Amino acid sequence: MKPVAPQPTRAFVCQRCGACCRWPGYVRIDAAEADAIAGFLGLPVPVFLERYTLLTADRRGLSLIEAPGGSACIFLEADQRCRIQAVKPRQCREFPLGWRNPDAACPAWPGA
Ligand code: SF4
Ligand code: SF4
Repeated sequence: MKPVAPQPTRAFVCQRCGACCRWPGYVRIDAAEADAIAGFLGLPVPVFLERYTLLTADRRGLSLIEAPGGSACIFLEADQRCRIQAVKPRQCREFPLGWRNPDAACPAWPGA
């Protein structure tokens, strides 16, 4: 049986703490998202890809890179805001709904 991701039992209100942007793992992007982020940054797509992405280990997609030091997404700013908020990837827009064990990263998740 396919596992069912947990759903909140009360309203979820993001605290804008940035913890999910420091959670280890890939921030995967597809081609349309790469185009949108490059456009938002005012960069040619090849320059954006070279500067801000890497090929995932399974060679099946791209991920945003981490900031120097490897502790956060490259686009997490010092005030915990996302530099590309207007065009952030679907993976980010959907967090934590539909994720497994979101309480591991999100202090606003009911039950965290
Ligand atoms: S793209 Fe923005 S929301 Fe997504 S992990 Fe990076 S900083 Fe966080
Ligand atoms: S970890 Fe949760 S509360 Fe913090 S920014 Fe991410 S979604 Fe919002």
